Amino acid sequence: MMSINIVAYKCKKCGRVHFPFHDRCLACKSREFEEIAPKGNAKLLTYTTIFNLPWGFDQRFLIIGIAEFENGVKAMGQVDAQSVEGLKLGMKVRPNWASVRQQHGEDIYGLKFEPIE
Ligand SMILES: [Zn+2]
Repeated sequence: MMSINIVAYKCKKCGRVHFPFHDRCLACKSREFEEIAPKGNAKLLTYTTIFNLPWGFDQRFLIIGIAEFENGVKAMGQVDAQSVEGLKLGMKVRPNWASVRQQHGEDIYGLKFEPIE
């Protein structure tokens, strides 16, 4: 398994985690951040199905979700499921850094969430 290539930014003052980067903390306006990586499994916060995919995807639709890691990092990724049946908000997902599509014959890597409940 490849490691997850995401850096999130934790406010040094109040601890709020930002991903992607914000200039100032959304909670306390501080400009000092510590870089952290997502850790552990994640909890599915929301998901949606996207049809009409751009060129390079060979599936008919994608399920995209936002999940929150154990250390508070929230990130968007592809949900590794055949349909939304069986998905539920708050369920545990395992994050993987995996090929999400192909471009010019090469794999493009991104975040994938695999339901583990
Ligand atoms: Zn803050």
